Amino acid sequence: MPGAGGTQRMPRLIGNAAALDLIISGKTLAAAKARACGLVDALAPVEDFGSAALDYVRHLLETGAKPRRTRDMPVAADDGLFEAALAKLPDVPACFAQRRAALAVQAATLPFAAGRAREAALFDECARSPTAAALIHLFFAEREATKVAGLGPAMPPGPVQRCAVIGAGTMGLGIALAMADAGLDVRILDNAPESRTRALAQVEAHYLRLAGKGRFDEAEARRRCARIQPGDYAQLAEADLVVEAVFEDLALKKKVFAELDAQCRPDAILASNTSTLDVDAIAAATRSPQRVLGLHFFSPANVMRLLEIVRGRETSGPALATALALARRLRKVGVVCGVCDGFIGNRMLEGYLREAGGLLLEGASPAQVDAAITGFGFAMGPFAMSDLAGIDVGYRVHQQRGIDPVDAQYYAVGGRLYEMGRYGQKTGAGFYRYEPGNRTPLPDPEVDAVIAAETARFGVARRAIDAQEIVERCVLPLINEAARILDEGIAARAGDIDLVWIHGYGFPAWRGGPMHYANTRGTARVLDRFRQYNRDGRLGTPAPLLERLAADNQPFA
Ligand code: NAD
Repeated sequence: MPGAGGTQRMPRLIGNAAALDLIISGKTLAAAKARACGLVDALAPVEDFGSAALDYVRHLLETGAKPRRTRDMPVAADDGLFEAALAKLPDVPACFAQRRAALAVQAATLPFAAGRAREAALFDECARSPTAAALIHLFFAEREATKVAGLGPAMPPGPVQRCAVIGAGTMGLGIALAMADAGLDVRILDNAPESRTRALAQVEAHYLRLAGKGRFDEAEARRRCARIQPGDYAQLAEADLVVEAVFEDLALKKKVFAELDAQCRPDAILASNTSTLDVDAIAAATRSPQRVLGLHFFSPANVMRLLEIVRGRETSGPALATALALARRLRKVGVVCGVCDGFIGNRMLEGYLREAGGLLLEGASPAQVDAAITGFGFAMGPFAMSDLAGIDVGYRVHQQRGIDPVDAQYYAVGGRLYEMGRYGQKTGAGFYRYEPGNRTPLPDPEVDAVIAAETARFGVARRAIDAQEIVERCVLPLINEAARILDEGIAARAGDIDLVWIHGYGFPAWRGGPMHYANTRGTARVLDRFRQYNRDGRLGTPAPLLERLAADNQPFA
């Protein structure tokens, strides 16, 4: 909230509606727009600022301008605008500050002193709120994440302008768009010519659609399209950085990296977008593993802000510094992590999805689990998310790994749905059914029948499960795994883990991420609840770090 009078002065300058829009959204205005709406009086070019300012002062003197106090300007009356705006901002933590900012702008319809007093009281409410503490934590976590052990001013990033993406599938396309949006030149390669052709057509359609929506003009759309060109291995010698996004298959990735190693300049960075494979094993397929690292983008890669930067055993400081600089250039939150199965985010996801699956056999429906999780504040519940990501993707990962017999029960429903060809949104059915052309998940009696059959097969007794149990059983394993990730040094800081789950997995930002949430609940209580749900040892053992901290209720930071 722009306290200190911002919510009182801005409506007097540009009107209630425009001020409310700017203040609630936190948008940034281009200078010309700020001038056009009356928020600033004059603009001057930077290189000519001194003389332009003097000219403006002379103009004020010549026209006999008098002091002009914004507080004395009249304000428009409250004409139902605020009622409508406040109806869209319920008094819940997710829009705690926006609601209070709107109330403060509404107070600008009062005499100035009364409005200022009201603004100060509302600002104080915001400043003291747990939401503010969570968001301030994330603000600093984002700055901290850029500080990485062993890097510093002595190790500047290498230049990155020409990039290449290997594999023009879902991820390759998104990564190429993210790069072109940031002004980088991209060559896109695929061994299936039709995939490459399709991706290039999608690039064009994407940018023309955005131009059609007024995001930028058609000339800009053409410029961005032109940055993405088809390429072949012979052109890789030009590339400063290559991102591989071929199928998730270790043998294939090793083959691709051996080829990249042979074709690229010795100083080019070679990155893999693998979600689960061993980056060190991939690096070992090259003669120069020090320039290999993981760049784990999230789908859609041109939208999602998270970028996990996987530091291999041999990854050099300059390669890592370059990857961090690339994250900044792409306007992403780069979080460095070590090599392990699933890195930070997907490794934590495992226990969360496992419990969600278990709840289905014990008595909950997919819609009930999802409602409890979105009620907690997640952008999406685990089953709507599985349908979006593809049930087949998770299934193949489990098959490759081999499912522990103890876990079979938890993954049973997803497995049956896979066998039925219900892969999620892409096949029109998964944990939910979908109407053609509509992404709204609809409960499906066929899924209820699958759940009933699996419940009977495993001989599980069904019972009513409330929202609190659903949330705790899904979220506590996530925190427990995060404690191991922190203890093992896979993540350098608790805040890094929070950033991963906020920006990659829809964890509610106003709760500050899983680690901050654990701190606010108290690690002693978190461990206590974990043990209560873990009487049968199903959740595995408590993480040693969680036990150490819980002993005197110390926080994770
Ligand atoms: P995809 O199947 O959509 O695309 C893979 C593309 O790679 C295909 O177009 C294929 O023709 C091409 N390809 C295969 N072998 C090749 C080769 N030797 N040379 C050049 N191109 C080749 O797959 P995807 O979903 O884009 O996933 C790609 C990678 O990204 C995988 O490692 C995956 O684990 C990872 N990933 C996926 C997601 C996701 O949500 N889909 C998220 C993060 C990471």
